[in-house]
Amino acid sequence: MKTLVPLLGDQLSLDISSLQAVEKRNAIVLLCECADETSYVAHHKKKLVFVLSCMRHFKQQLHDDGWSVIYRQLDDENNPKSIASSIELAVAEHQCEQIVMTEVGEYRLRESLRALQSNLSIPMDLLPDTRFLCSTEAFQSWAASRKQLRMENFYRDMRRQTGLLMEDDKPVGGQWNFDKDNRKPAGRSVKFSDPLRFEPDDITRDVVALVDNHFPNNMGSVHDFWFACSASDANTALDHFIDFSLPQFGDYQDAMLHDQKFLAHSVLSLYINIGLLDPTNVCERVEAAFNDGHIPINAAEGFIRQIIGWREYVRGIYWLEMPQYLEQNFFDYHKPLPEFYWTADTRMACLKGSIQQTIDEGYAHHIQRLMITGNFAMLAGVDPKQVHEWYLAVYVDAYEWVELPNTLGMSQFADGGLLGSKPYAAGGNYINKMSDYCKHCDYKVSKKTGEDACPFNYLYWHFLSQNQEKLSSNHRMAQMYNTWGRMSEERKAEIHADATHFLESL
Ligand code: FAD
Ligand code: SF4
Repeated sequence: MKTLVPLLGDQLSLDISSLQAVEKRNAIVLLCECADETSYVAHHKKKLVFVLSCMRHFKQQLHDDGWSVIYRQLDDENNPKSIASSIELAVAEHQCEQIVMTEVGEYRLRESLRALQSNLSIPMDLLPDTRFLCSTEAFQSWAASRKQLRMENFYRDMRRQTGLLMEDDKPVGGQWNFDKDNRKPAGRSVKFSDPLRFEPDDITRDVVALVDNHFPNNMGSVHDFWFACSASDANTALDHFIDFSLPQFGDYQDAMLHDQKFLAHSVLSLYINIGLLDPTNVCERVEAAFNDGHIPINAAEGFIRQIIGWREYVRGIYWLEMPQYLEQNFFDYHKPLPEFYWTADTRMACLKGSIQQTIDEGYAHHIQRLMITGNFAMLAGVDPKQVHEWYLAVYVDAYEWVELPNTLGMSQFADGGLLGSKPYAAGGNYINKMSDYCKHCDYKVSKKTGEDACPFNYLYWHFLSQNQEKLSSNHRMAQMYNTWGRMSEERKAEIHADATHFLESL
């Protein structure tokens, strides 16, 4: 039976369930650079180059592997615009008798495919995405058996399920979590190794020209593009990370330095999310490096926790809570996202640095996303949906299933604590402890109020006071509310005045 296998731009793996489920000689694979997908948010130029170039490289890989492929380019006359219409067109043109597809990663696409499924006259099978270790059904039954959906409990179950870093039923190293050993600030004497860079080949150079031409006003530049765009290059990037950065990953996971964009971070999320690297294989490689004595336990456990813990957990939350999750706004915040999120034009060195590198690279590491840009947006009372749209647009690794719970839940606490037990809110002290940004800033982190005081300082207390009714019963916030309660009325008035003045100036 002639079978159409549509593959989306983040399903670029020969092991994907849809390709595994069909007979090659009866199948036609469809890859389409749909105009709608390139424009539903104003994607960073490097993200567009990355996704389109990976798709074109994957077409080549499919051909080499003996598959028949229909490939539609963005600049083809009659580009079908949407995924649904590209499928309909391919079915009609090639007289396909059935469709086999791997389930998609975004709610809006799932809905449009379900609508298509009910309109088509041929069967359409949607198969589970087996690249994930926890199916959406398994997550739902895990969630149904819990009062609180804490990542740590989920993560321990995933360790038991995968056997990663386990000795029989006990965690290797005697404890489940080495989080406390992941928080060293990085001094100037620590030397970091950058991620591996790749020269654009002819395919990527064509895409660079296309994106430059079609998306002149999107964030970023295409001209210094350096990401891997094929599975073999992504594997080389993984080797490089394991050899040179992973040994330091554990210690400096939460550190920030103004002139180090990557520190010991892997810059692998983009490759894993799009399908060039398999998450299980990545974790097995990291475990093997630990077993060989190449890396310490806090690096191995810290890294594997991010993948089989956080990554799987946020995906589970996404499918459990959509579509109402998108509308969550626990603090009832409605301010617009400050313009400097698009330009980096601010005197606050931590925000300027994190946003400028986002503009330059389409990348910022986790603590910059969480404790700088995310923290500021929450303290400033920005509408969480606008914050979400920014993160979805500006990072090369951004897809809604992973970005939304991280943004709305973890960084903005807009879900009221479904994902995190307390808001990730912090004043300047935290940023000063974990980074060297404050040494390069016009504001003084030691000053709590006054003209040149660090805005994070007064915004932090202002945020706590504004949300006292919603947060004071949270026992993890008790100490901070006690401190606030002990401040004089005069001090509190100064804080409110500075915060109000600052927020009005944004
Ligand atoms: P490393 O620090 O090297 O971590 C290793 C791997 O662990 C990553 O490659 C990634 O696959 C995984 N990982 C780590 N933390 C998380 C997490 N919280 N959730 C899911 N996976 C994680 N990650 C995305 O992949 N796409 C996003 O759109 C995205 N948006 C985010 C938005 C906000 C507000 C925040 C706070 C975090 C977001 N994250 C997102 C999670 C995390 O910041 C990125 O995965 C990480 O920074 C990617 O860089 P890296 O590959 O160098 O990660
Ligand atoms: Fe950021 Fe405040 Fe430090 Fe400046 S002083 S870098 S605004 S935390």
